[in-house]
Amino acid sequence: MRTIGLIGGMSWESSAEYYRLINQQVRDRLGPLRSAKLLMYSVDFGPVEQAQHAGRWDDAAAILVDAARRLEVGGADCVVLCTNTMHKVAGQIQAAISIPFLHIADPAGQAAVEAGALKIGLLGTAFTMEQDFLKERLTSMGLTVLVPEADERQAVHRIIYDELCVGVISEASRKVYQQVIESLTIRGAQAIILGCTEIGLLIKPEHSALPLLDTTELHAQAAVAFALVE
Ligand code: GLU
Repeated sequence: MRTIGLIGGMSWESSAEYYRLINQQVRDRLGPLRSAKLLMYSVDFGPVEQAQHAGRWDDAAAILVDAARRLEVGGADCVVLCTNTMHKVAGQIQAAISIPFLHIADPAGQAAVEAGALKIGLLGTAFTMEQDFLKERLTSMGLTVLVPEADERQAVHRIIYDELCVGVISEASRKVYQQVIESLTIRGAQAIILGCTEIGLLIKPEHSALPLLDTTELHAQAAVAFALVE
């Protein structure tokens, strides 16, 4: 089994999900007492979040490059960055290591293509919904990406940082997300990419009429596929 390297902490609420999902999948595939070989370097989200909102992406990248290098030195065979937003600096991380970097958009995009959902709605932070770093990669896979309208994006973003990243799950916020998903459905979305690693804590398949492609689940699956390759 190869060793998975996780960069976590953004937020740790979703990193805990990665840890659980990866181990569950290894157990399901290999047997009851089997578990994943993995290292997690969990950063302090505070300085990363401050750098994001101040547009100091190079400062945030420096923190993650340092984490990725530590994982490689520690024996990881790949790096999995447990946040969509910080894939904005994926290129800098990839360039700093010589082990594979498993990009979060790849399994999400593949799942959409396999489901025949070529028009997808993307939910995530404002950075992810408004900037090109994730959307371009999905578009290059043949997908058309719809994002919510401006006021909806603001609500989706606020709920991520003020609630989901601090462990607050509220019925009112679930309703907000359901309305946003409904608007995207009316605009032609055939599936919804949960493009923020905490959204799956709030929105489960039973909360949506459209299929959900949860980046946390799909990314964890990709990590396990890498770890268990013959
Ligand atoms: N975990 C979130 C994501 O997947 C948001 C937190 C962050 O900004 O990294 O984008």
